Amino acid sequence: MRQTQLFANTLRAAPAEAEVMSHRLLLRAGFIRQLAAGIYTYLPLGRRVLHHIERIVREELDGAGAQELLMPALQPAELWRESGRYEAYGPELIRLTDRHQREFALGPTHEEVVTMLVQQEINSYRRLPVTLYQIQTKFRDERRPRSGLLRGREFLMKDAYSFDTSWEGLDRSYRAMYAAYQRIFERCGLATRAVEADAGAVGGQGGTHEFMALADIGEDIIAVCSHCGYAANIEKATSREECNEGMGHHVPAYEKIHTPGVRTIEQLTQHLQLEPSHFMKTLIYMADGNLVAVLVRGDHEANELKVKNALGADTVALADAEAITGVTGAAVGFAGPIGLTIPLLVDDAVARMACGVAGANESEYHVKHVVPGRDFTIERVGDFRNVKEGEACTRCEPGKLRLVRGIEVGHVFKLGTKYSEVLGARYLDANGREQLVMMGCYGIGVSRMLSAIVEQHHDDRGIVWPTSIAPYSVHLIPISMKDETQRNVAMTIYDTLRRRKIDVLLDDRDERAGVKFNDSDLIGLPIRIVVGKDAIHGKVEYVDRYTNDKQLLAIDDALLRVSASN
Ligand code: ATP
Ligand code: MG
Repeated sequence: MRQTQLFANTLRAAPAEAEVMSHRLLLRAGFIRQLAAGIYTYLPLGRRVLHHIERIVREELDGAGAQELLMPALQPAELWRESGRYEAYGPELIRLTDRHQREFALGPTHEEVVTMLVQQEINSYRRLPVTLYQIQTKFRDERRPRSGLLRGREFLMKDAYSFDTSWEGLDRSYRAMYAAYQRIFERCGLATRAVEADAGAVGGQGGTHEFMALADIGEDIIAVCSHCGYAANIEKATSREECNEGMGHHVPAYEKIHTPGVRTIEQLTQHLQLEPSHFMKTLIYMADGNLVAVLVRGDHEANELKVKNALGADTVALADAEAITGVTGAAVGFAGPIGLTIPLLVDDAVARMACGVAGANESEYHVKHVVPGRDFTIERVGDFRNVKEGEACTRCEPGKLRLVRGIEVGHVFKLGTKYSEVLGARYLDANGREQLVMMGCYGIGVSRMLSAIVEQHHDDRGIVWPTSIAPYSVHLIPISMKDETQRNVAMTIYDTLRRRKIDVLLDDRDERAGVKFNDSDLIGLPIRIVVGKDAIHGKVEYVDRYTNDKQLLAIDDALLRVSASN
């Protein structure tokens, strides 16, 4: 490809709203352009990288026995009503109406469509197992589309669905996808970690793992054991129990203390000169329209997903000030467990406290010497908090948990019969009896991968593409196209590489060398061949974008090295 013809402009600066590095670099290097919030055009360079990622995805999934199909983005609302998700999916589902006032949704995922398809096409165990996949555009009206391709409202996903006759079968399909995912990410140069993930209260009847690309700007937090292989999303991660803190000691009766204007744990710590771990935090949530209280230690964070799962609720969110005052009779900041009339979920770290300080359910007051079980009843105790850095691993003795950040690039999920049940996907077994199909679903954020790869592969000069997915393998840069020798040598190399089916971008622009090099660094092709003043002696400069190692080589040697590294 000649750069004079390439539909791409490099930008000196990225727009201010582009915060994360991958977003800035993909914009600046001319890989993507934004149309609206969370909606992007992939320019030719970006499209080429996507093609390479897609090729690797296809090779690995086909190799694992999956079959590609393509399902519609436009889906009848009826189907979503049947599965019960038309309402449950919430505002992320983009809904629209056709000219006959029939309702549709733009597919955020395809469990409904694929399950219906299998329900219609498969009726015997002889046709199972089968795994189907597609690479297709998804629509989700994300609350906060951000970070470029990392969280789009229209994005490219590879979604796969497996159909089996038994749990053992599903387990095999799941493991085949898990292994394929590991190979896909590795081949794309993405360092990922498979972590145990939350399966929701009713989401999956089996296991689920997320594949996290490790990156500091990642939205997800992962707990990783320093000793064994345990790794889990913080939504799910648990840590080992700490010992009881002086239980059984005599604690005087609880006592009200005046704490004017002291609403937060920080203020309490200051006011009472006690560590945050001596406080009990009472959080009031609205869960499916009902108020519940969650009690966690002052130095702990409540985990809404664990609360949601414990309640089997569809939605859980912190209650507003009015609701809090309504139930506590006090201003926000003074809620406490004593005398509360709504259900109380007690985190087990609180249940193990000998005593502590809590809100008094009276404005400007707290209570000290509060003893769990004595001063309020503990009916529902469990793990309702996030693990913290340095806590003991649940799976091994010496291990400590470390918290790291990641970008979820893939997700494998054992669904069991969740969808086959509601959509009636049954088959006849060997005895002629009707059985529900056992399902798994498997997603990869293909466009998100593009950004995740750039997060992991860049330096202060630009992107550094892994060879396997680079838009072109070689950036061929004659210093001056006006110089006849340079032009001839460059064209010879260009033609040779093309004959050898090596993707090459020829910078035939009439630009200063410095401009060409800066753009080349920004675009980040793995190999740069500079044709300069030594062309007259049959030599060119071979530059490795990754190491920035430069060597003057005879043209043939440079070509050999290109072939060897492709
Ligand atoms: P997240 O927690 O990041 O919102 P999710 O759990 O909603 O992800 P899935 O429904 O499992 O994601 O979708 C499968 C894959 O699609 C994810 O692993 C992710 O890589 C990708 N993905 C999900 N939402 C988006 C988005 N808004 N933009 C780009 N990729 C996405
Ligand atoms: Mg999501």
